[in-house]
Amino acid sequence: MKLSIRENRYFQPDMMFQSIYEITPEFLKKQGIKAVLFDIDNTIAPYEVASPTEEMKAYFKSLEENGIKLAFVSNNKKERVHIFNLDLGYFYVSRARKPFSSGVRACIKHFGLPKEQIVSVGDQIFTDCLAAHGAGLQFYMVAPVNKKESRFFRIKRFFERPFIKAFKERVLKGYNKK
Ligand SMILES: [Mg+2]
Repeated sequence: MKLSIRENRYFQPDMMFQSIYEITPEFLKKQGIKAVLFDIDNTIAPYEVASPTEEMKAYFKSLEENGIKLAFVSNNKKERVHIFNLDLGYFYVSRARKPFSSGVRACIKHFGLPKEQIVSVGDQIFTDCLAAHGAGLQFYMVAPVNKKESRFFRIKRFFERPFIKAFKERVLKGYNKK
């Protein structure tokens, strides 16, 4: 059976959420997750937000309190990630060059946990999702936080659509089987 690119699991998230806050510590624990690596821009905060808000800090703390480790893997420059991480002090990789997986792999190595216990969270198929799956991790996709996106990003979103649709069809099929 020939598999079209649309059906390729590499391009599909394992789960989708409206925001990071829907990915609760309770949910992660149920999935057996002990570490999460987050993309920053448009996943946690818009580009122009330099430091985490109280809401973001409270969310990270809730994960930590449940024994879940955190790291950032961002394609943005070191300065951006360093400033965002200043009060948090998590492990991070900047200029990660996702869709390449080396940044994700560095985080896996840092955590020292089996891949099944780590999940990657991001907002883009063609960078975050491919980097996560390339390193053998599950990928949870969130809706981008910034609605005012550049034309370049709007074009990328357009091309992401068939993969999102394929994901939804797969999930629905799974539900129907039950
Ligand atoms: Mg992003």
